[in-house]
Amino acid sequence: MRLPTTTFNLIVIASFVALGAVGWMHTRLATATDASVARSARYDVTWTGSAGRMEMLELRKLMSDFLASGSPEDAAQVNLYAQIVEGRLANWDSGLFREYIDYAPERRIEFDQARAEFGDAVTEFANLQDPAVQAKILKKLDLVAPVMDLIGADAQSHTVMVNSGIRDQLVHEQRLQKYLSFGLIGVGTVLLLVMMHQNRSLERARRAAREAAMGFSDLAHHDGLTGLPNRLAFTTAFDAAMDTEDGGPTMLAVFAIDLDGFKAVNDLLGHAAGDDLLVAVADRLRRMVSKSGLHNIVSRFGGDEFVVLLQGEAAVARHEAIAGEILEELGRPYVIQRSTVAIGATIGVSVLDRARDIASNPLLDADLALNNAKALGKGIVVTFEPSMRRDFERRGRLESDLKSALGNGDIFPFYQPQVDIETGQLVGFEALARWNHPELGWIAPNEFIPIAETSSQIVELGRCILTTACSQAMVFPGTLRVSVNLSVGQMLRDDVIGMVTDVLASTGFPAGRLTLEVTESLMMSEPELTARILKSLKGLGISIALDDFGTGYSALSYLRQFDWDELKIDKLFVDDLGNEPRSLSIIEAVVDLASQLGMRVVAEGVETTEQHAILRKSGCHIAQGYLFGRPQPIDEVHLTLLRSLAAGEPDPDRTVSI
Ligand code: C2E
Ligand code: CA
Ligand code: CA
Repeated sequence: MRLPTTTFNLIVIASFVALGAVGWMHTRLATATDASVARSARYDVTWTGSAGRMEMLELRKLMSDFLASGSPEDAAQVNLYAQIVEGRLANWDSGLFREYIDYAPERRIEFDQARAEFGDAVTEFANLQDPAVQAKILKKLDLVAPVMDLIGADAQSHTVMVNSGIRDQLVHEQRLQKYLSFGLIGVGTVLLLVMMHQNRSLERARRAAREAAMGFSDLAHHDGLTGLPNRLAFTTAFDAAMDTEDGGPTMLAVFAIDLDGFKAVNDLLGHAAGDDLLVAVADRLRRMVSKSGLHNIVSRFGGDEFVVLLQGEAAVARHEAIAGEILEELGRPYVIQRSTVAIGATIGVSVLDRARDIASNPLLDADLALNNAKALGKGIVVTFEPSMRRDFERRGRLESDLKSALGNGDIFPFYQPQVDIETGQLVGFEALARWNHPELGWIAPNEFIPIAETSSQIVELGRCILTTACSQAMVFPGTLRVSVNLSVGQMLRDDVIGMVTDVLASTGFPAGRLTLEVTESLMMSEPELTARILKSLKGLGISIALDDFGTGYSALSYLRQFDWDELKIDKLFVDDLGNEPRSLSIIEAVVDLASQLGMRVVAEGVETTEQHAILRKSGCHIAQGYLFGRPQPIDEVHLTLLRSLAAGEPDPDRTVSI
């Protein structure tokens, strides 16, 4: 237990007060001692007193001797002593003896009278031979001698009395100082003990804090589930590995690993099983990495993301083989909670010689490679290439420029003609978004639509293209239709029905001439929501097209899932027509089914007259492709319209390339 700070402070203050008091007492005692030393001079008073008595006695004795002999030598002796006594009386009236005389007023009176008597006679001593003088002197001596004897004798007892007073005071003050000293020693001891205790508690607190901090740092550096170093620990080790000064291996390889199918295990077998699986994966990686060297580290970055750092030339030379081994190892079945589970992994790898590639960030590079790998398909290894970083930077740039592009009107539709496959008559346009970037130039939708999809910008972009397309199409001849693409992001994030209703109302474009195109991916991810929204849109009189049929998982079952107005056969399918005989049979079957279900069939990406001829034969209704016109800006559309009206034919040369 530690003393509260205020108590501790009070004890310290008390000690200082006691110390001050003892100091003061000590000074007082020193002063008192000085005073007593001064007063010890009072012993002089005793001596002076007895000296005076003796001198007077001597004077009287000499006087008797003279009276007996009458010799001039004895007279001279008497004379000398008379002057000594006179000097003594003067001496008695000065300094400490004077203080002593003044101590008792009656003594002062007696002394003054005696001195006056003696002073009165002192001049007479020169005429000692005169008997009258002798008689006077004897009389005076009889008067003065007893007084001097008394005063001289009293001086001793007075000194004894005064000195005993001083001694009493000294004893008293010494006793006081002794008590104070004991007090101070006591307080000092208490203070010392308190401070020792306080110190020990502080040391204990400091140790506890250090231990807690170490605990936190351990927690902060390790993934609680797998016990592997976490992202923080990895980046610390990685930064150390990147330090070119330390003389360690200069070559290193980073493997960013993402598990495939982990989510399914989590969803199907529960989170506990998911945790067990992560622990098993961590164990396998740890075993592999510990075999391969000292400077290596395997860490879990979170979720099902692991990162491995291998150092040394051998690791870099074999990085692809190593990545393959990791895939194989992680792909072996696991037994989790008595179920056998199989998952895969996708890996992005980056290698670096830190002595040369100073500007590189291999961790970021491995991540970029992993993203590329995931985009290409799962269960593969992709090694980083510089173009990936350029693409990443460009993507970042487009992402940040997208908002202002929409605000500035840099994104707007081009229009690609759609023609009647039989007559070649223009029947409508598909509005296709274009971005005219002030610095990067024209940007294709395949690049910026996916970026917009990842943010809410797709909502704004969709509204913008639909609004512009509907208002620009208002001047098209009334027989022409306009198709606009609707994306997944819009369906999920926007109130599509409200938005379309508003656009139609504000532009005045007839719902009956508008087609909205959706892809099957939407039907796959959100079938119920999509079906509900599409049904409402159809209710407004709008046509709904199933776009990109023939890519991805296209299945004939989708045709029955919703009451589509239009089916757009993808360019990939059309491309195959010349080379793959079965494509024709498939297209014929699809067109047949779609027609039976009451759909218009549009063939996309028609580039050659041969394709056109085959599609025409297969029963398609409408064709769209470079053969009939590329997507073109609205000004070009106006010219195309004029020509088409004049000639009654599409003009393949009047197209705009981007
Ligand atoms: P999509 O809807 O399938 O559009 C048809 C794409 O095929 C267009 O590419 C068009 O230029 C291209 N194309 C048409 N005929 C030919 C041909 O004969 N040969 C070749 N090689 N290509 C042909 P684009 O304009 O680059 O658009 C690509 C995709 O971007 C579109 O595919 C569509 O999915 C998406 N997109 C375009 N505009 C928008 C939009 O406003 N909103 C949304 N959500 N997506 C859009
Ligand atoms: Ca389309
Ligand atoms: Ca398409």
